[in-house]
Order: sequence, then structure tokens, then C-alpha cells
Amino acid sequence: MSMKAKTGVKQDKKGVRKKEKMDIRLEYDMKLTEVENKFFSSLKSKDLKAIRCPKCHKVIFPPTDYCPYCREKTKSGKWVNIPNIGKVISQTTIHYSYNPNFPSPYSILAIKIPKTDSILILPSKNTGIYLGDRVRISVKGKREFNITDIEVENMSS
Ligand SMILES: [Zn+2]
Repeated sequence: MSMKAKTGVKQDKKGVRKKEKMDIRLEYDMKLTEVENKFFSSLKSKDLKAIRCPKCHKVIFPPTDYCPYCREKTKSGKWVNIPNIGKVISQTTIHYSYNPNFPSPYSILAIKIPKTDSILILPSKNTGIYLGDRVRISVKGKREFNITDIEVENMSS
């Protein structure tokens, strides 16, 4: 991780200290786990793949290393294709951007995908999607190998 920051305090002509806006950027280098690597690699084929917990058989999407239900390691679980549709069960619009590559406004959507036992929490540049809407989920053409590679389209309007 590296961090760059400008000073946060300046003095005016009278010597009064004033706060100024700071520009702080954090860059992270994170290693993908085996399950994450397999999931992001699967996006190359544009299929949405979930993992079935080897112990409790819940279907987790996006796949995680540990089952959120029983905490079992999932890496020996079976990979399964899931439908590319879902229903928005929660939504909010964000008006401040934390990522220059993901400008505001954008939405954070919570999507229930049939045949899965987890909720997909997804940032989306599409701000025309609301609670209760049915959506189509797809993998975008130009991928960055993160969760924003999954795009959402409103099927209700
Ligand atoms: Zn489990």
C-alpha cells in the first residue's frame, strides 16, 4: 500500500491557520485467493458462476472463500452457473465519488439472484434502477477484473 497526501493546514497573511481540502489516494496491491481468482477468471467466459458450499450446499454469489452460513472453506465446492437475472431488494444513490474511475452519481444495488442463497451488492453507473425492479446481469465487454465488470440493466422499464 502506498499513500500520497498534501498538507491539510495553511496559514493566511495574518498567520491564522486554515484547513484546506486534502487529496489522499490509497493504492492497494491485493493477492486474489484461489476462489476469487477462479471467479474473476470465469468472467472471461461471460458466464456468471457461483460456488456451492461443500458442507451446507448453499449457493454463494459472488463466490467467497468461506461460506457465510456455516463458515466452511468453499474452495472444494462445486462451481455452478447461475441465471443472469435478479430482483433489486435494496437501492441507494451515491452522490460523492471515491474512485475517479467510478464517477458519481452511481447506485449501490442489492440484488437477489434466483438459485443463489446470497445477495449481490453491486455498484452500478445505472441510476435508473429502483427497489423491486427486475434486472438483467451481464459481464461487460471491457473487463477490469473486479466486481464492476458485472453490469445491470433494468428489465422493468
Ligand atoms: Zn456452508
